Amino acid sequence: MSSRLPPAKDSLIPRPDPMWFGDHLALDFLNTTAVLRGRTVEWLRDGDDWIGWLCAAGALPAAAGKRLRAQAEASALDDCVRDAIHLRDWFRRLLVRLKTDGGGATEADLAPLNAVLASAPLFRRIDTPRDAPPRLIAEQTWRHARETLAPVAAAMADLICERDLDLVRTCENPQCTMWFLDRTKGHRRRWCSQAICGNRAKVAAFRARRKA
Ligand SMILES: [Zn+2]
Repeated sequence: MSSRLPPAKDSLIPRPDPMWFGDHLALDFLNTTAVLRGRTVEWLRDGDDWIGWLCAAGALPAAAGKRLRAQAEASALDDCVRDAIHLRDWFRRLLVRLKTDGGGATEADLAPLNAVLASAPLFRRIDTPRDAPPRLIAEQTWRHARETLAPVAAAMADLICERDLDLVRTCENPQCTMWFLDRTKGHRRRWCSQAICGNRAKVAAFRARRKA
């Protein structure tokens, strides 16, 4: 998809663990890069990061992640990261545009997403949970490294097709780049995290009041 290489591991500042403020897989995926204290942090630096993040996000079963790590060539997983970052940049641009111009997305707009969705074969299986009736489900085969892009692509499609984009927002802290889906009852969520940006804003407001 793209020739852009993720930065080498040692060229970046130490990272905190990935953050899960998005309240939606597609937005947690957008938040895999962020500006923290003025520096850009990248959580997807190589194939290892990618598989680890997908498993932590619940988007890839741990057993499939382990198998892909063992079977796939490291370079194939690194290629996936490159494609993932390209998809992430594309999706951020699309969201910003959909939210600012208010128009819908055309088939041409969504072609990159449909291409990723088409690349992952799904099969159907009857699942028999212990405490519920049997149900027909669709699953991925997870045979190829490139299939790992499909769950985030499906989440992006869910956001575009099923969600109210007015509730998809960025944190109100102008220095923060985090996205989230506001699932609160009154739809008044303002911050990626009350503990981080919410408190910072509260402290700044307190200081401004004291100065006045
Ligand atoms: Zn924030």
